Order: sequence, then structure tokens, then C-alpha cells
Amino acid sequence: MNEKEIINIIDNFSKRNIEAFYFDSLEEAKMKVLDMIPKTKTVGIGNSQTLKKMNISRVLEERGNIVYDKTFAKNKEEIRDLKRKSLLTDWYITSSNAVSVEGHIVNIDHSGNRVAAMVYGPDKVIVIVGINKIEGTLDDAMKRARNHAAPLNAIRAGYNPPCVELKRCVDCLTKDRVCYNVVTIEGQYIPNRMKLFIVNEDLGF
Ligand code: SF4
Repeated sequence: MNEKEIINIIDNFSKRNIEAFYFDSLEEAKMKVLDMIPKTKTVGIGNSQTLKKMNISRVLEERGNIVYDKTFAKNKEEIRDLKRKSLLTDWYITSSNAVSVEGHIVNIDHSGNRVAAMVYGPDKVIVIVGINKIEGTLDDAMKRARNHAAPLNAIRAGYNPPCVELKRCVDCLTKDRVCYNVVTIEGQYIPNRMKLFIVNEDLGF
């Protein structure tokens, strides 16, 4: 992205009460996360390849934050417990499946815990995305989420819906459907609740 494009997308999100930041690297974004979240605050984590790459859960925990990350769980009961606890944290960190230059954040979600926390619950939310997830319009972002992110997430999670082979969504109703929840965040009612970190790297899918 050039400087004009960066200013444009930050401005478009600002009009929707979402504060957007641009970083040259994931490491820079990580430093900003650590700087922004006080050590005394609880943090929920929405599972993401980008956050795993940052190792942000362990780093936050080691410096004193209480972190609810389902990947810490040892069994299904703990997964359920951590997902529920992460809904009422002070901060929530996650990624997204697609972001539009117009200012939309598009998310597909299997059980819905991630999108639930993004929409309501945690006081503050940080969404971290690589530039590979930026699309022009809401329509393009939705296509990315359904035709690109969904099949790759299905493979990662061990599911095999039709989009894995077809490389496009057919609105399947199979038992392997991975996107029971498709949620577009169009803005925030509470100013400064949501932050969008755009990183100049290819991150996740
Ligand atoms: S509805 Fe089915 S085919 Fe479409 S993206 Fe979701 S899992 Fe894939």
C-alpha cells in the first residue's frame, strides 16, 4: 500500500468509529499491542494464524496479564470454558478474514465465539490483519472470506466442505460447513472500542 492508500483506509475506518493503524511489520504491531494493553487487564484471544505467529498469548501471560486463549486448553471442557470467559474480558485480540478499503471487517466463524466477542462483550478489541486480507469493496471482502478463507480454514481444522475442492462457496448445508456465522462489522457504536492493525505482511488466510 502506498501512503495515499494507507491514509484513505485509515480515514474510512475513522468515519466508522474504528481506529486504524498501519505497521511495517508484525513485530511492530506486537510492540504496539503490548504498549496499548495494561498489564493489569484481562485479555481474550480469538484463534488466528496471525496471533499464533506473534505468540502474543504467551508473551502477555508471561508479563502478568490473565489471558483466555482456547489453544491453552487440555480438553473440550476447558475449550468451552476459555471461549466463554474470553467474552467478558477487558481486551480481546483477534484477526479477520477480510477487510475492505471502504471500512468493513468481514468474518466467518464456525462456533461463533470469535465474532461474538468482536461484536459485544470485551471493552476493547484489536483486530490484526496482513495486507493480503485487504479488498476494495464489501462485496470483494465477502468473496474473499467465503471463497478463499473458508476453504483454507476448513482444511486447517480438518473439515471437508464443498468449497475445499471447488475453491468457491456454494452455500453448502453439509455437516462440514465451517461458516455458520458470517458477520460484517460496519462500524462501532462506542468510539475507540475497536482498533484495526494493518500490517504490511502476508499473514494467515
Ligand atoms: S457455506 Fe459451505 S461451501 Fe460455502 S464457504 Fe461455508 S463451508 Fe464453504
